[in-house]
Amino acid sequence: MNIAIIGGGAAGMTAASRVKALRPEWNVMVFEKTNFVSHAPCGIPFYVSGIVEYFEELCTYDVSYFRMERGIDVHTNSKVIEVGEGYLVAEEDGKERRYEWDKLLFTTGSRAKNLDVKREELEGVLYLNHITSAEKVKNLALKAENVVVIGSGYIGVEMAEAITRLGKKVTIIEMAERPLPEYDAEIAAIIKSEMEKFVNLRLGEKVVAFEGKDRVEKVITNKGDYKCELVIVAVGSHPNTEIAKKIVELGKSGAIKTNSRMETSRGGVYAAGDCAESLNIITGKPDWIPLATPANKMGYVAGVNIAGYELHYPGSLKSQITSFYNTEIGKVGLSEYEAMREGYEIISSFITTKSTARYFMDGLIHLKVVADRNGKLLGIQAVGKGVAMRIYAVSALLYRGANIRDLFFTDFPYYPPVSRVWDPLVVAARNLFRKLGIP
Ligand SMILES: Cc1cc2nc3c(=O)[nH]c(=O)nc-3n(C[C@H](O)[C@H](O)[C@H](O)COP(=O)(O)OP(=O)(O)OC[C@H]3O[C@@H](n4cnc5c(N)ncnc54)[C@H](O)[C@@H]3O)c2cc1C
Repeated sequence: MNIAIIGGGAAGMTAASRVKALRPEWNVMVFEKTNFVSHAPCGIPFYVSGIVEYFEELCTYDVSYFRMERGIDVHTNSKVIEVGEGYLVAEEDGKERRYEWDKLLFTTGSRAKNLDVKREELEGVLYLNHITSAEKVKNLALKAENVVVIGSGYIGVEMAEAITRLGKKVTIIEMAERPLPEYDAEIAAIIKSEMEKFVNLRLGEKVVAFEGKDRVEKVITNKGDYKCELVIVAVGSHPNTEIAKKIVELGKSGAIKTNSRMETSRGGVYAAGDCAESLNIITGKPDWIPLATPANKMGYVAGVNIAGYELHYPGSLKSQITSFYNTEIGKVGLSEYEAMREGYEIISSFITTKSTARYFMDGLIHLKVVADRNGKLLGIQAVGKGVAMRIYAVSALLYRGANIRDLFFTDFPYYPPVSRVWDPLVVAARNLFRKLGIP
Protein backbone atom coordinates (compact mmCIF):
# COMPACT_ATOMS: atom_id res chain seq x y z
CA MET A 1 0.00 0.00 0.00
CA ASN A 2 1.15 3.54 -0.77
CA ILE A 3 0.09 6.09 1.80
CA ALA A 4 0.58 9.78 1.00
CA ILE A 5 0.46 12.43 3.72
CA ILE A 6 0.51 16.11 2.76
CA GLY A 7 2.02 18.23 5.56
CA GLY A 8 4.68 17.16 8.04
CA GLY A 9 3.50 19.02 11.17
CA ALA A 10 2.02 17.57 14.34
CA ALA A 11 -0.92 15.79 12.72
CA GLY A 12 1.00 14.53 9.67
CA MET A 13 3.97 13.04 11.52
CA THR A 14 1.77 11.48 14.21
CA ALA A 15 -0.34 9.80 11.54
CA ALA A 16 2.71 8.66 9.56
CA SER A 17 4.28 7.16 12.69
CA ARG A 18 1.06 5.33 13.58
CA VAL A 19 0.61 3.81 10.13
CA LYS A 20 4.23 2.68 10.03
CA ALA A 21 4.02 1.21 13.56
CA LEU A 22 0.90 -0.80 12.66
CA ARG A 23 1.87 -1.65 9.06
CA PRO A 24 5.67 -1.67 8.88
CA GLU A 25 5.58 -3.16 5.36
CA TRP A 26 3.55 -0.28 3.87
CA ASN A 27 5.14 2.63 2.04
CA VAL A 28 4.37 5.82 3.97
CA MET A 29 5.31 9.06 2.19
CA VAL A 30 5.15 12.51 3.82
CA PHE A 31 5.35 15.62 1.63
CA GLU A 32 6.39 18.76 3.51
CA LYS A 33 6.94 22.05 1.70
CA THR A 34 9.46 23.45 4.20
CA ASN A 35 12.68 22.00 5.50
CA PHE A 36 11.20 21.02 8.87
CA VAL A 37 8.91 18.28 10.14
CA SER A 38 7.37 17.65 13.54
CA HIS A 39 7.76 21.32 14.33
CA ALA A 40 6.17 23.09 17.26
CA PRO A 41 4.84 26.57 16.45
CA CYS A 42 3.65 26.78 20.08
CA GLY A 43 7.29 27.32 21.07
CA ILE A 44 7.79 30.38 18.82
CA PRO A 45 7.09 33.00 21.55
CA PHE A 46 9.61 31.28 23.84
CA TYR A 47 12.27 31.21 21.14
CA VAL A 48 11.69 34.91 20.44
CA SER A 49 11.95 35.83 24.14
CA GLY A 50 15.12 33.75 24.51
CA ILE A 51 13.69 31.20 26.96
CA VAL A 52 14.31 28.60 24.22
CA GLU A 53 17.85 29.20 23.08
CA TYR A 54 18.21 27.16 19.89
CA PHE A 55 15.84 27.24 16.94
CA GLU A 56 16.31 23.46 16.39
CA GLU A 57 14.61 22.85 19.74
CA LEU A 58 11.34 23.84 18.09
CA CYS A 59 11.32 20.51 16.24
CA THR A 60 10.42 17.47 18.34
CA TYR A 61 12.38 15.10 16.06
CA ASP A 62 14.41 15.82 12.95
CA VAL A 63 13.88 14.42 9.47
CA SER A 64 16.59 11.76 9.74
CA TYR A 65 14.94 10.34 12.87
CA PHE A 66 11.72 9.70 10.96
CA ARG A 67 13.60 8.22 8.00
CA MET A 68 16.05 6.04 9.92
CA GLU A 69 14.14 5.09 13.09
CA ARG A 70 10.59 4.98 11.81
CA GLY A 71 11.10 4.07 8.15
CA ILE A 72 8.97 6.95 6.85
CA ASP A 73 9.74 8.27 3.37
CA VAL A 74 9.90 11.99 4.23
CA HIS A 75 10.13 14.46 1.35
CA THR A 76 11.12 17.94 2.55
CA ASN A 77 11.09 21.08 0.38
CA SER A 78 8.34 19.23 -1.44
CA LYS A 79 5.21 21.25 -2.09
CA VAL A 80 2.14 19.38 -3.27
CA ILE A 81 0.48 21.43 -6.00
CA GLU A 82 -2.10 19.02 -7.36
CA VAL A 83 -4.08 16.05 -6.13
CA GLY A 84 -6.23 13.72 -8.22
CA GLU A 85 -7.71 10.23 -7.90
CA GLY A 86 -4.80 7.99 -6.88
CA TYR A 87 -2.01 10.50 -7.58
CA LEU A 88 -0.45 13.76 -6.49
CA VAL A 89 2.05 16.14 -8.00
CA ALA A 90 4.78 17.71 -5.86
CA GLU A 91 7.33 20.39 -6.71
CA GLU A 92 10.74 19.10 -5.70
CA ASP A 93 14.10 20.64 -6.71
CA GLY A 94 12.33 22.85 -9.24
CA LYS A 95 10.73 19.84 -10.93
CA GLU A 96 7.20 18.48 -10.82
CA ARG A 97 7.08 14.83 -9.70
CA ARG A 98 4.09 12.54 -9.69
CA TYR A 99 3.44 9.98 -6.92
CA GLU A 100 0.74 7.31 -6.67
CA TRP A 101 -1.32 6.73 -3.53
CA ASP A 102 -3.85 4.17 -2.31
CA LYS A 103 -4.83 6.26 0.71
CA LEU A 104 -4.29 9.97 1.17
CA LEU A 105 -4.23 12.20 4.26
CA PHE A 106 -4.44 15.99 4.29
CA THR A 107 -2.57 17.52 7.24
CA THR A 108 -1.85 20.89 5.66
CA GLY A 109 -2.52 22.94 8.82
CA SER A 110 -3.63 26.56 8.84
CA ARG A 111 -2.15 29.94 8.01
CA ALA A 112 -2.40 33.42 9.48
CA LYS A 113 -5.14 35.70 8.16
CA ASN A 114 -4.13 38.77 6.21
CA LEU A 115 -5.39 42.17 7.26
CA ASP A 116 -6.06 43.32 3.70
CA VAL A 117 -5.03 46.91 4.30
CA LYS A 118 -2.80 49.28 2.32
CA ARG A 119 0.94 48.53 2.16
CA GLU A 120 0.69 45.20 3.93
CA GLU A 121 3.54 43.98 1.73
CA LEU A 122 6.11 46.29 3.41
CA GLU A 123 9.25 44.69 4.87
CA GLY A 124 8.85 44.27 8.61
CA VAL A 125 5.16 43.32 8.52
CA LEU A 126 5.21 39.67 9.59
CA TYR A 127 2.80 36.77 10.07
CA LEU A 128 3.40 33.70 12.19
CA ASN A 129 2.62 30.86 9.85
CA HIS A 130 5.35 28.43 10.68
CA ILE A 131 8.45 28.04 12.85
CA THR A 132 10.40 29.41 9.89
CA SER A 133 8.93 32.85 10.79
CA ALA A 134 10.46 32.65 14.28
CA GLU A 135 14.02 33.53 13.32
CA LYS A 136 12.93 36.48 11.20
CA VAL A 137 10.72 37.86 13.99
CA LYS A 138 13.49 37.45 16.53
CA ASN A 139 16.17 39.12 14.39
CA LEU A 140 13.93 42.08 13.57
CA ALA A 141 12.67 42.39 17.15
CA LEU A 142 16.24 42.54 18.46
CA LYS A 143 16.98 45.49 16.16
CA ALA A 144 13.67 47.31 16.73
CA GLU A 145 12.82 49.87 19.35
CA ASN A 146 9.05 49.95 18.87
CA VAL A 147 7.01 46.92 17.89
CA VAL A 148 3.29 46.77 17.11
CA VAL A 149 1.34 43.54 17.58
CA ILE A 150 -2.01 43.51 15.81
CA GLY A 151 -4.57 41.24 17.44
CA SER A 152 -4.81 40.14 21.06
CA GLY A 153 -5.77 36.50 20.72
CA TYR A 154 -3.46 34.13 22.58
CA ILE A 155 -0.77 34.36 19.88
CA GLY A 156 -0.75 38.18 20.00
CA VAL A 157 -0.62 38.14 23.81
CA GLU A 158 2.24 35.61 23.93
CA MET A 159 4.24 37.43 21.24
CA ALA A 160 3.74 40.79 22.99
CA GLU A 161 5.14 39.35 26.21
CA ALA A 162 8.07 37.75 24.36
CA ILE A 163 9.05 41.04 22.76
CA THR A 164 8.74 43.11 25.94
CA ARG A 165 11.11 40.55 27.49
CA LEU A 166 13.68 41.69 24.89
CA GLY A 167 13.35 45.19 26.36
CA LYS A 168 11.30 46.60 23.48
CA LYS A 169 8.29 48.89 23.62
CA VAL A 170 5.20 47.03 22.47
CA THR A 171 1.84 48.41 21.39
CA ILE A 172 -1.03 45.97 20.91
CA ILE A 173 -3.86 47.05 18.64
CA GLU A 174 -7.11 45.16 19.09
CA MET A 175 -10.35 45.85 17.26
CA ALA A 176 -12.54 44.39 20.03
CA GLU A 177 -13.18 46.23 23.28
CA ARG A 178 -11.19 43.67 25.29
CA PRO A 179 -8.07 41.54 24.96
CA LEU A 180 -8.49 37.79 24.38
CA PRO A 181 -11.99 38.43 23.01
CA GLU A 182 -13.01 34.76 23.37
CA TYR A 183 -13.16 35.31 27.14
CA ASP A 184 -16.09 36.96 28.93
CA ALA A 185 -15.83 40.59 30.00
CA GLU A 186 -15.14 39.95 33.74
CA ILE A 187 -12.15 37.74 32.96
CA ALA A 188 -10.90 39.97 30.15
CA ALA A 189 -10.96 43.00 32.49
CA ILE A 190 -8.40 41.31 34.78
CA ILE A 191 -6.25 40.31 31.81
CA LYS A 192 -6.42 43.89 30.52
CA SER A 193 -5.16 45.39 33.78
CA GLU A 194 -2.26 42.89 33.91
CA MET A 195 -1.30 43.57 30.29
CA GLU A 196 -1.38 47.34 30.73
CA LYS A 197 1.51 47.02 33.19
CA PHE A 198 3.79 45.94 30.33
CA VAL A 199 2.34 47.09 26.98
CA ASN A 200 0.47 49.96 25.40
CA LEU A 201 -2.88 48.22 24.88
CA ARG A 202 -5.11 49.99 22.36
CA LEU A 203 -8.62 48.50 22.38
CA GLY A 204 -11.48 49.25 20.01
CA GLU A 205 -9.00 50.38 17.32
CA LYS A 206 -8.91 49.19 13.75
CA VAL A 207 -5.79 49.16 11.59
CA VAL A 208 -6.41 50.88 8.27
CA ALA A 209 -2.95 51.04 6.68
CA PHE A 210 0.79 50.70 7.06
CA GLU A 211 3.24 53.42 6.06
CA GLY A 212 6.92 53.38 5.19
CA LYS A 213 9.33 53.73 2.28
CA ASP A 214 10.52 50.16 1.85
CA ARG A 215 10.21 49.05 5.42
CA VAL A 216 7.30 49.59 7.76
CA GLU A 217 7.60 52.83 9.73
CA LYS A 218 4.07 53.39 11.01
CA VAL A 219 0.79 51.61 11.67
CA ILE A 220 -2.24 53.80 10.99
CA THR A 221 -5.50 53.06 12.81
CA ASN A 222 -8.91 54.74 12.82
CA LYS A 223 -7.81 56.56 16.00
CA GLY A 224 -4.12 57.33 15.61
CA ASP A 225 -0.75 56.22 14.31
CA TYR A 226 2.09 54.23 15.87
CA LYS A 227 5.75 54.49 14.95
CA CYS A 228 7.42 51.08 14.71
CA GLU A 229 10.12 49.05 13.00
CA LEU A 230 8.33 45.70 13.25
CA VAL A 231 4.68 44.64 13.05
CA ILE A 232 3.38 41.20 13.94
CA VAL A 233 -0.06 40.47 12.53
CA ALA A 234 -1.94 37.92 14.65
CA VAL A 235 -5.59 38.41 13.74
CA GLY A 236 -6.61 34.78 13.42
CA SER A 237 -6.07 32.00 10.93
CA HIS A 238 -7.65 30.05 8.04
CA PRO A 239 -7.49 26.31 7.39
CA ASN A 240 -5.17 25.46 4.49
CA THR A 241 -7.54 23.76 2.07
CA GLU A 242 -6.55 25.10 -1.37
CA ILE A 243 -5.65 21.72 -2.86
CA ALA A 244 -8.04 19.66 -0.76
CA LYS A 245 -11.15 21.60 -1.73
CA LYS A 246 -10.81 20.43 -5.32
CA ILE A 247 -11.45 16.82 -4.31
CA VAL A 248 -13.19 16.77 -0.91
CA GLU A 249 -16.06 18.67 0.72
CA LEU A 250 -15.44 21.50 3.13
CA GLY A 251 -17.62 22.18 6.17
CA LYS A 252 -19.30 25.44 7.19
CA SER A 253 -16.14 26.63 8.91
CA GLY A 254 -14.15 26.32 5.67
CA ALA A 255 -12.12 23.39 7.07
CA ILE A 256 -12.33 19.88 5.61
CA LYS A 257 -15.45 17.95 6.62
CA THR A 258 -14.56 14.74 8.45
CA ASN A 259 -16.29 11.96 10.35
CA SER A 260 -15.04 10.49 13.64
CA ARG A 261 -12.61 8.22 11.75
CA MET A 262 -11.16 11.39 10.16
CA GLU A 263 -12.48 10.29 6.76
CA THR A 264 -13.44 13.01 4.30
CA SER A 265 -16.32 12.96 1.82
CA ARG A 266 -14.16 10.86 -0.55
CA GLY A 267 -13.33 7.21 0.06
CA GLY A 268 -9.70 6.55 1.03
CA VAL A 269 -9.04 10.25 1.69
CA TYR A 270 -8.59 11.49 5.27
CA ALA A 271 -7.93 14.86 6.94
CA ALA A 272 -6.58 15.74 10.39
CA GLY A 273 -5.27 18.69 12.39
CA ASP A 274 -5.79 22.38 11.70
CA CYS A 275 -7.04 21.81 8.15
CA ALA A 276 -9.91 19.59 9.36
CA GLU A 277 -13.23 20.06 11.13
CA SER A 278 -14.06 17.92 14.13
CA LEU A 279 -16.81 17.67 16.70
CA ASN A 280 -17.16 20.23 19.47
CA ILE A 281 -17.92 17.97 22.43
CA ILE A 282 -20.01 20.63 24.21
CA THR A 283 -22.25 21.71 21.34
CA GLY A 284 -22.22 18.35 19.56
CA LYS A 285 -21.72 20.24 16.27
CA PRO A 286 -18.85 20.23 13.78
CA ASP A 287 -16.37 22.97 14.65
CA TRP A 288 -12.95 24.21 13.66
CA ILE A 289 -10.56 23.90 16.60
CA PRO A 290 -7.03 24.71 15.43
CA LEU A 291 -4.99 23.67 18.47
CA ALA A 292 -2.03 21.37 18.95
CA THR A 293 -3.47 18.62 21.15
CA PRO A 294 -6.52 17.99 18.93
CA ALA A 295 -4.17 18.02 15.90
CA ASN A 296 -1.98 15.30 17.41
CA LYS A 297 -4.94 13.14 18.42
CA MET A 298 -6.73 13.57 15.09
CA GLY A 299 -3.46 12.52 13.42
CA TYR A 300 -3.28 9.47 15.68
CA VAL A 301 -6.86 8.45 14.88
CA ALA A 302 -6.36 9.03 11.14
CA GLY A 303 -3.21 6.88 11.24
CA VAL A 304 -4.97 3.99 13.00
CA ASN A 305 -7.89 4.02 10.53
CA ILE A 306 -5.64 4.38 7.50
CA ALA A 307 -3.77 1.30 8.75
CA GLY A 308 -7.05 -0.63 8.58
CA TYR A 309 -7.94 -0.67 12.29
CA GLU A 310 -10.78 1.25 13.90
CA LEU A 311 -10.55 4.22 16.26
CA HIS A 312 -12.93 7.16 16.65
CA TYR A 313 -12.08 10.76 17.50
CA PRO A 314 -14.66 11.98 19.99
CA GLY A 315 -14.02 15.68 19.33
CA SER A 316 -12.51 18.39 21.43
CA LEU A 317 -13.40 20.88 24.16
CA LYS A 318 -11.26 23.74 22.81
CA SER A 319 -9.35 23.71 26.09
CA GLN A 320 -6.57 26.23 26.20
CA ILE A 321 -4.09 27.81 28.55
CA THR A 322 -1.77 30.72 28.08
CA SER A 323 -0.14 33.31 30.29
CA PHE A 324 1.04 36.89 30.43
CA TYR A 325 4.05 37.24 32.72
CA ASN A 326 2.94 35.74 36.05
CA THR A 327 -0.74 35.65 35.21
CA GLU A 328 -2.06 32.29 34.06
CA ILE A 329 -5.07 32.39 31.76
CA GLY A 330 -7.25 29.46 30.73
CA LYS A 331 -10.55 28.42 29.25
CA VAL A 332 -12.32 25.19 28.42
CA GLY A 333 -15.74 24.69 26.88
CA LEU A 334 -17.98 27.68 26.25
CA SER A 335 -17.86 31.20 27.66
CA GLU A 336 -21.17 32.78 28.65
CA TYR A 337 -21.21 34.75 25.40
CA GLU A 338 -20.48 31.65 23.30
CA ALA A 339 -23.10 29.60 25.15
CA MET A 340 -25.76 32.24 24.56
CA ARG A 341 -24.82 32.45 20.90
CA GLU A 342 -25.38 28.68 20.74
CA GLY A 343 -28.88 29.21 22.14
CA TYR A 344 -28.33 27.92 25.69
CA GLU A 345 -30.21 29.42 28.61
CA ILE A 346 -27.41 29.77 31.07
CA ILE A 347 -26.49 30.36 34.68
CA SER A 348 -23.03 31.48 35.69
CA SER A 349 -20.89 32.24 38.70
CA PHE A 350 -17.90 34.58 38.73
CA ILE A 351 -15.73 34.55 41.83
CA THR A 352 -12.47 36.11 42.97
CA THR A 353 -10.80 34.11 45.71
CA LYS A 354 -7.53 32.62 46.91
CA SER A 355 -6.43 29.43 45.16
CA THR A 356 -4.14 28.64 48.12
CA ALA A 357 -4.68 28.54 51.89
CA ARG A 358 -5.42 31.88 53.59
CA TYR A 359 -1.96 32.13 55.18
CA PHE A 360 -0.10 31.99 51.85
CA MET A 361 0.51 35.42 50.33
CA ASP A 362 0.29 34.23 46.77
CA GLY A 363 -2.60 32.74 44.88
CA LEU A 364 -5.44 35.00 43.78
CA ILE A 365 -7.68 33.46 41.14
CA HIS A 366 -10.67 34.85 39.21
CA LEU A 367 -12.89 32.10 37.94
CA LYS A 368 -16.12 31.91 35.97
CA VAL A 369 -18.23 28.78 35.64
CA VAL A 370 -20.98 28.56 33.02
CA ALA A 371 -23.75 25.94 33.09
CA ASP A 372 -27.13 25.46 31.45
CA ARG A 373 -30.43 25.92 33.32
CA ASN A 374 -30.44 22.20 34.24
CA GLY A 375 -27.00 22.44 35.78
CA LYS A 376 -25.04 20.81 32.93
CA LEU A 377 -21.54 22.21 32.96
CA LEU A 378 -20.73 24.16 29.77
CA GLY A 379 -17.36 25.72 30.48
CA ILE A 380 -14.98 27.60 32.74
CA GLN A 381 -12.58 30.48 32.34
CA ALA A 382 -9.95 31.54 34.84
CA VAL A 383 -7.16 34.04 35.31
CA GLY A 384 -4.60 34.36 38.10
CA LYS A 385 -2.67 31.67 39.97
CA GLY A 386 -3.37 27.93 39.84
CA VAL A 387 -5.34 28.25 36.62
CA ALA A 388 -3.80 25.37 34.66
CA MET A 389 -4.65 22.59 37.10
CA ARG A 390 -8.25 23.78 37.37
CA ILE A 391 -8.61 23.89 33.58
CA TYR A 392 -7.25 20.34 33.47
CA ALA A 393 -9.71 19.17 36.10
CA VAL A 394 -12.73 20.74 34.44
CA SER A 395 -11.63 19.45 31.01
CA ALA A 396 -11.93 15.91 32.36
CA LEU A 397 -15.37 16.66 33.82
CA LEU A 398 -16.62 18.30 30.63
CA TYR A 399 -15.37 15.37 28.60
CA ARG A 400 -17.63 13.11 30.68
CA GLY A 401 -20.63 15.46 30.36
CA ALA A 402 -20.58 16.44 34.06
CA ASN A 403 -22.98 18.76 35.87
CA ILE A 404 -22.63 21.26 38.71
CA ARG A 405 -23.12 18.57 41.39
CA ASP A 406 -20.19 16.66 39.88
CA LEU A 407 -18.08 19.82 40.02
CA PHE A 408 -19.01 20.29 43.68
CA PHE A 409 -18.47 16.68 44.74
CA THR A 410 -15.33 15.85 42.76
CA ASP A 411 -12.71 15.04 45.34
CA PHE A 412 -10.10 17.68 44.48
CA PRO A 413 -7.05 17.25 46.73
CA TYR A 414 -6.10 19.85 49.36
CA TYR A 415 -2.56 21.02 50.04
CA PRO A 416 -2.19 24.57 51.44
CA PRO A 417 0.39 25.97 48.93
CA VAL A 418 -1.68 24.97 45.88
CA SER A 419 -5.34 24.50 46.82
CA ARG A 420 -7.99 25.09 49.45
CA VAL A 421 -10.30 22.90 51.48
CA TRP A 422 -13.09 24.68 49.64
CA ASP A 423 -11.46 24.89 46.25
CA PRO A 424 -12.42 27.85 44.01
CA LEU A 425 -14.09 25.36 41.65
CA VAL A 426 -16.20 24.01 44.52
CA VAL A 427 -17.11 27.50 45.73
CA ALA A 428 -18.25 28.49 42.24
CA ALA A 429 -20.30 25.27 42.00
CA ARG A 430 -21.87 25.97 45.40
CA ASN A 431 -22.88 29.46 44.18
CA LEU A 432 -24.71 27.81 41.32
CA PHE A 433 -26.52 25.43 43.72
CA ARG A 434 -28.63 28.40 44.79
CA LYS A 435 -29.63 29.16 41.20
CA LEU A 436 -30.52 25.50 40.69
CA GLY A 437 -32.57 25.28 43.89
CA ILE A 438 -30.15 22.83 45.49
CA PRO A 439 -30.00 23.44 49.28
C1 LIG B 1 2.76 31.19 17.57
C2 LIG B 1 1.87 30.00 17.77
C3 LIG B 1 1.68 29.51 19.05
C4 LIG B 1 0.83 28.42 19.27
N1 LIG B 1 0.66 27.97 20.56
C5 LIG B 1 -0.17 26.94 20.81
C6 LIG B 1 -0.34 26.44 22.13
O1 LIG B 1 0.26 26.94 23.09
N2 LIG B 1 -1.20 25.41 22.31
C7 LIG B 1 -1.90 24.83 21.27
O2 LIG B 1 -2.66 23.89 21.51
N3 LIG B 1 -1.72 25.25 20.00
C8 LIG B 1 -0.89 26.29 19.74
N4 LIG B 1 -0.69 26.72 18.43
C9 LIG B 1 -1.43 26.04 17.35
C10 LIG B 1 -0.68 24.75 16.93
O3 LIG B 1 0.63 25.09 16.58
C11 LIG B 1 -1.41 24.11 15.75
O4 LIG B 1 -2.72 23.78 16.16
C12 LIG B 1 -0.69 22.83 15.29
O5 LIG B 1 0.61 23.12 14.86
C13 LIG B 1 -1.48 22.20 14.15
O6 LIG B 1 -0.79 21.08 13.64
P1 LIG B 1 -1.04 20.60 12.15
O7 LIG B 1 -0.17 19.41 11.94
O8 LIG B 1 -2.48 20.48 11.88
O9 LIG B 1 -0.55 21.80 11.23
P2 LIG B 1 0.89 22.46 11.11
O10 LIG B 1 1.70 22.25 12.33
O11 LIG B 1 0.65 23.85 10.64
O12 LIG B 1 1.56 21.61 9.93
C14 LIG B 1 1.08 21.69 8.62
C15 LIG B 1 2.24 21.45 7.69
O13 LIG B 1 1.76 21.32 6.35
C16 LIG B 1 2.71 21.88 5.47
N5 LIG B 1 2.04 22.14 4.19
C17 LIG B 1 0.96 22.96 3.98
N6 LIG B 1 0.60 22.91 2.66
C18 LIG B 1 1.46 22.05 2.05
C19 LIG B 1 1.59 21.59 0.72
N7 LIG B 1 0.79 22.00 -0.26
N8 LIG B 1 2.57 20.70 0.44
C20 LIG B 1 3.41 20.26 1.41
N9 LIG B 1 3.33 20.68 2.70
C21 LIG B 1 2.37 21.55 3.02
C22 LIG B 1 3.16 23.12 6.22
O14 LIG B 1 4.41 23.59 5.76
C23 LIG B 1 3.23 22.60 7.64
O15 LIG B 1 4.50 22.11 7.97
C24 LIG B 1 0.17 27.80 18.18
C25 LIG B 1 0.37 28.29 16.87
C26 LIG B 1 1.20 29.37 16.67
C27 LIG B 1 1.41 29.89 15.24
